[in-house]
Amino acid sequence: MALKGIKTKDQHIKNLAAIVGSQSILYHKEDLLAYDCDGFTIHRYLPKAVVFPKDTEEVAKLVKYCSEHALPFLARGAGTGLSGGAIPLNNEVIISLVRMKRLLSVDLANRRAVVEPGFINLKLTNSISDKGYYYAPDPSSQYCCTIGGNVAENAGGAHCLKYGVTTNHILGLEVVLPNGEIIELGNGGIPDSPGYDLLGLLTGSEGTLGIVTKITVRILKNPEAKQTVLAYFDRVLDGSQAVSDIISAGIVPAALEMMDKTAIEGVEAAAFPVGHPKNIEALLLIEVDGISAGIDEQIAQILEVCNNRNVREVKVAQDEQERAGWWANRKTGFGAMGAISPDYLVQDGVIPRSKLPEVLSRINQISIEYGLRIANIFHAGDGNLHPLVLFDARKQGETERALEAGSACLQVCADVGGTITGEHGVGIEKREEMRFVFTDQEIKAQTDIRQVFNPDNLLNAGKLFPSPSRCVEIKQEMKGRAPL
Ligand SMILES: Cc1cc2nc3c(=O)[nH]c(=O)nc-3n(C[C@H](O)[C@H](O)[C@H](O)COP(=O)(O)OP(=O)(O)OC[C@H]3O[C@@H](n4cnc5c(N)ncnc54)[C@H](O)[C@@H]3O)c2cc1C
Repeated sequence: MALKGIKTKDQHIKNLAAIVGSQSILYHKEDLLAYDCDGFTIHRYLPKAVVFPKDTEEVAKLVKYCSEHALPFLARGAGTGLSGGAIPLNNEVIISLVRMKRLLSVDLANRRAVVEPGFINLKLTNSISDKGYYYAPDPSSQYCCTIGGNVAENAGGAHCLKYGVTTNHILGLEVVLPNGEIIELGNGGIPDSPGYDLLGLLTGSEGTLGIVTKITVRILKNPEAKQTVLAYFDRVLDGSQAVSDIISAGIVPAALEMMDKTAIEGVEAAAFPVGHPKNIEALLLIEVDGISAGIDEQIAQILEVCNNRNVREVKVAQDEQERAGWWANRKTGFGAMGAISPDYLVQDGVIPRSKLPEVLSRINQISIEYGLRIANIFHAGDGNLHPLVLFDARKQGETERALEAGSACLQVCADVGGTITGEHGVGIEKREEMRFVFTDQEIKAQTDIRQVFNPDNLLNAGKLFPSPSRCVEIKQEMKGRAPL
C-alpha cells in the first residue's frame, strides 16, 4: 500500500507510518535533529524515526512491530531529562508520547486522577486547583515535563522533602511491555496489595522495562496555610548547619532549598531576579505549610535557628506575589546558569544531610582542582545536591574536564554514604558511576530484572547500567551456582 506523503524506500518507515498515519512520523534528517538529545546535550545521536501514537493500541502495535523486527526503540516525553535517558544511542525508533496528553478523569472522593503519559505535570495542578486540590511532585521543569517522564525518572522537586517523590504519588499504571503486551499495575491503588511491588519497580526504571501509557496519581488537598522564608548567610557553613538545625528542631518544611554565591550570581543575572545581595555566600529558601494553627510557631522557630547561625538577613514573604517571585527565581535556576556561562552540566548526588558542610567544601576543592566554576542550587532538606559545573564547550578539553569534575562530585557523595542520583536518573550520563555505589553482583541482579521484562534489550538499551563486560564475566563466573 502506498502511503500518502511518505517518500522513502525504507520499508520499516512505511510500516511504522501505516500504524500511526503518515502525518505522525518524522524520518527526514532535518526533522530528526531535534531529537538527537534531551536535556543532557553533551552526547548526540540521530534516531531512525520519531513516531507519535495517539493511544495505547498504537503504542502496542509500534512496540510489537519493533520487537518482531529487532528494531531498537525508546519512549520520549518532553525530552527534559538531564541524564540522557531519551537519547537514541542505537539509532532507535523514538515513540513520542506527546500526543497522548489527556486528563482522563478526576475523582475527588477518592483523591485520584488518571492521565495519559504526555500530560504536562503543572497542568494537573492547574486543572484541579479551583477545586482546592493539587499534584504534589513539582520538578522545577514542571511547566513542560510530562507525567510519563516523571514516572520513568521517579522525579522529585522542591516540595518532595515533606510530600515524597513521584513513586509516593503513583497508584496505578498501564504499561506496554517490550513485546507489545499491555498490562495494568497497582490494583487500583489498594495499599500493600499481595505479590511483588511491580508498580514500585516500574517507577524510576528509566524507560527500560516498558512504556507507560496511562497513570493513576494521588492528588492532595491544598494546605490551609503556607509561609515562605528567605535567609541570607555570610558563610556557607552557617547556612548548611541551619539546614540540619531546622530538621533537628522537629520541623519538616514543605521545602528547604539552598543556593550558593555562584548560583545567586546566575539567578540574579537571568530572567527572574529578586534582588538577592551580591556578596552573600549562601541563601536558604524555606517553606512551611499545613493547617493554619502552628505555622506561626514554626516560622518563629526557623527565624530563631537562622539567627543562632549568624544569618545576615532573614525575611518572611509578605504576600503571594513575593513568594511566587522567590520561587520563580529558584525554579529557573538551572537555565539561569546560561546567563553566566556558555555551557553547564547539572549533577545530581545525594548525601546524608549532616555531611552538607563537608561535601560543599570538597566540591569547592574539585572546582579549584579542575579549574571550573561550580554553582550549587539544591534541595538541601533532603540532601539532594545539584552541583552545576560551568564550562565552555568551545574550549579544547573543557567538556571532558567538566564531565570529570561532575563525576568527582558524585564520588564525594558516594564516599560520605550517599548516592549518585536523587531525581535525574542515571541515563547514559552516570552509567559508569553506578560502580561507585553497587558491586558487580548488585548490578547483575538489576540487569537480570531488566532481562525478564526486556529480554532482547531492544527497549532503551545502553542506559542505566555500566558497560556489560564485567557483568558478562560475572555471569560466566556464576554459572553452575544458584542465580542471584
Ligand atoms: C530546567 C530543568 C529543571 C529540572 N528540574 C528537575 C527537578 O527539580 N526534579 C527532577 O526530578 N527532575 C528535574 N529535571 C529533569 C526532568 O525534567 C525530569 O527527569 C522529568 O521527569 C523528565 O520528563 P520528560 O517528560 O521530559 O521525559 P524525557 O526526558 O522525555 O524522558 C526521560 C526518560 O523517561 C523515559 N520515558 C519518557 N516517557 C516515558 C513513558 N511514557 N514510559 C516509559 N518511559 C518513558 C525516557 O525513555 C527517558 O529514559 C529538570 C530538567 C530541566 C531541564
